[in-house]
Amino acid sequence: MRGFLSFLLDCLIPRSCLACGRGIGSFDPVAVSSATRMTPRMEEFLDSGLRTELFAGISVSADVLCPGCWSKLELARGEGRLAGRSAGAMDVPLVSPFHTSDELLALVRFLKFSGGRSVVPPLGWWMAAALGDYLGKAAERDSFDCVLVPVPLHPTREKSRGYNQAALLAREVAGRLGLDVDSRILKRTRNTKAQSTLDRKKRSENVCGAFGLGRGEYAAGKNVILMDDLVTTGETAQACIAALESASPRSIAVLAAGRARD
Ligand SMILES: [Zn+2]
Repeated sequence: MRGFLSFLLDCLIPRSCLACGRGIGSFDPVAVSSATRMTPRMEEFLDSGLRTELFAGISVSADVLCPGCWSKLELARGEGRLAGRSAGAMDVPLVSPFHTSDELLALVRFLKFSGGRSVVPPLGWWMAAALGDYLGKAAERDSFDCVLVPVPLHPTREKSRGYNQAALLAREVAGRLGLDVDSRILKRTRNTKAQSTLDRKKRSENVCGAFGLGRGEYAAGKNVILMDDLVTTGETAQACIAALESASPRSIAVLAAGRARD
């Protein structure tokens, strides 16, 4: 019945790819994952390597990009590092399922600027898979006391947007891995310009000191996972880490949907 309803909806409101605008049609990555119910149309787009790697085990709808654009997303191997800024500071692991690309940017822009919550389940699914891999091999796995901390928006921006996209992603990831989210630990102490409009130096100045601790005691002794949508130059994450370090967490790592290639 559900299949028939979605077929009817497809006819009434054709879904189009957020990156290229092409019709998505009946693309169903869950079917791709199981590989047994694939239609010739899916075969047309996906080579076997992509089927097993990108969509293996997926359990959510991903009909926000067409198969061709999903195939352009580049899976990130292992984790990157954000260099420590303060004297004696350790590098911070940077975990993400993807490297940034035009297709990933289209998803994040849709989420941030067009109320596009439909990208949260698929992005959250891949982010949870990446974080699960990282936690499985991290040294602190024996004390699995993690808290996800979304990069906060200034209250004015959150009010106009209606939500914090990092918090939406954090809740999706937390629900999949059975972790806690705490949006009280960090706060944005002043409003800033959109980082995407600035060069690296200006980005650093823009966010320097823009974050402070809210209820820092909830991070003390915990493995803190700072969450953002994308990490490009890392200036926002570094400014958050500088604030988080004063809460004496056990460790800090960063989780984002995408990161720039090293
Ligand atoms: Zn497309």
